[in-house]
Amino acid sequence: MPTHVQSQQEFFTMLVEEQRDIRITLASLERSGKPVELDQTTQGRVSRVDAISNQHMAKAGSTRLVIQLDRINAALEWYAAGRYGICCRCELEIPHGRLMADPATPFCLDCTEELAEVKQHERHHRLNTGR
Ligand SMILES: [Zn+2]
Repeated sequence: MPTHVQSQQEFFTMLVEEQRDIRITLASLERSGKPVELDQTTQGRVSRVDAISNQHMAKAGSTRLVIQLDRINAALEWYAAGRYGICCRCELEIPHGRLMADPATPFCLDCTEELAEVKQHERHHRLNTGR
């Protein structure tokens, strides 16, 4: 049995609320990030450039949100499976403080650091052998 049942429910609520917020934001980004009208007669060149760069910004923002939404969905699935708060990698309990900071985290701090190191190492490797 998980040891922090009460706070698990709090995390569940936090995740569901964040999920809802992200969906609302994504929906509004989608509306504002509609394909840019390239109608010469109604828009000058400058405002068209503005519209395109706004669209790019909306896209960059939504990519980040989509990633976070994926993490939340995964965490909620994990929760439904009764495994919330357990590291996906080493299967040890994730410390409460870490879940407070990021309720969607799938990994304990050790695993996160190890995975970050591996990534950094790979990047190093690519940089050193890249040319
Ligand atoms: Zn771990």
